[in-house]
Amino acid sequence: MNNNDDHIDRFMSRENIYSVSIVDDAEPGFSYQGCECCNDSLGNNVTDCTGISNDKDNSHEYALCNECIYSILYGE
Ligand SMILES: [Zn+2]
Ligand SMILES: [Zn+2]
Repeated sequence: MNNNDDHIDRFMSRENIYSVSIVDDAEPGFSYQGCECCNDSLGNNVTDCTGISNDKDNSHEYALCNECIYSILYGE
C-alpha cells in the first residue's frame, strides 16, 4: 500500500482527468508494465479504465491497479 496519495493527484493533473470509470466487462489481469498511475515499474494486477476528462474528446484508457482505482473513486 502506497501511503503517499499525492501521486494520485499528480497522475490526474498530468493526464487532465478528474475521475476514471472501469471499462465495461474489464477484468483485472496481470501486466508486466504495472499500473500507469503508480508508475513504479513493477508488474501488477491492473484493470482497464477510461479517464474522465473535462475535454470529452480526450478520453483515454489506462491500466490501473485496484488501490489506485479505489483512491481515485473514493479518496483515501
Ligand atoms: Zn496510483
Ligand atoms: Zn496503481
